[in-house]
Amino acid sequence: MTSQTNPVLLDGKTLAAKIRGELKDRSIKLQKEKGKRPVLATILVGADPASATYVKMKGKACESCEMDSKKVELPDTTTTEQLLAVIDELNADDTIDGILLQHPVPSQIDERLCFDRILPEKDVDGVTTVGFGRISFGLPAYASCTPAGIMRLLAEYNIPLQGKRAVVVGRSAILGRPLAALLLEANATVTVCHSRTTNLPDVVREGDLVFACVGKPNFIKGDWLKEGVVLVDAGYNEGNVGDADYESCYPKSSFITPVPGGVGPMTIAMLLSHTVAEAERKVSAR
Ligand code: NAP
Repeated sequence: MTSQTNPVLLDGKTLAAKIRGELKDRSIKLQKEKGKRPVLATILVGADPASATYVKMKGKACESCEMDSKKVELPDTTTTEQLLAVIDELNADDTIDGILLQHPVPSQIDERLCFDRILPEKDVDGVTTVGFGRISFGLPAYASCTPAGIMRLLAEYNIPLQGKRAVVVGRSAILGRPLAALLLEANATVTVCHSRTTNLPDVVREGDLVFACVGKPNFIKGDWLKEGVVLVDAGYNEGNVGDADYESCYPKSSFITPVPGGVGPMTIAMLLSHTVAEAERKVSAR
């Protein structure tokens, strides 16, 4: 059986553009009234082309919102100690509001140690264990940007979460786990699935909301879904393909994210949003 009407598309592209417009206004206001321009520092280690593109996109996004980005580029021979020293400098620099360390770093570097060196208040990408712990306890912190973007998207469409069954497929530190924590905080009943979950289609079928966070193209199938499900696909695979099989999932859904144009654009919007919020917080604390 399929839904009688077409699902509503959760349009992250339009929402992200609206958020970025609001951030630009806030940033201009902050400069005019307080002489403060929000600054995001980005650290790129090595020459991975995809990472370089992501960092460039983030820099351009800052420009479009009247924010500054300070780009730090380090060679792929960088050691953990050298990277920690760079992070220490950025932590100590009062002009910097947020720090983004682009993942992944070269394998000789202890990435977790470096992420955790970022001061919690400058952790606008939501990558520190302190930030994750605070989010898990329902305390204020900048959440990991993709989960934060998903929550913002659901809120925009007034999708109820309280008492709903939410099934998150994937448990990564940047996506599945923090998303589960945020959904729990919103009073959903949350199930987190992973590669060792047995009878995955049956578990997914229990979800009023299903979140595809797997990293495998077209992985979630339409016949795994409850009729009228809210399907959020965070996946982004080569060829603009999500983690859910859009064609078979579409007729089962009441709301669905397109790929691209659903979750993806929300991630950078949240990074900018956290940076502006931190700049405002800092200025008001002076
Ligand atoms: P990840 O670190 O590789 O984690 C993938 C998760 O999926 C793991 O928890 C893994 O389980 C689980 N998984 C793998 N195979 C499975 C299976 N057969 N059944 C059930 N679970 C399975 O990936 P990620 O970084 O979270 O990214 C996930 C997806 O989101 C990717 O498509 C990525 O491109 C996308 N993403 C998008 C954005 C954005 O800005 N839009 C940001 C981040 C990620 P185990 O823990 O058991 O290994």
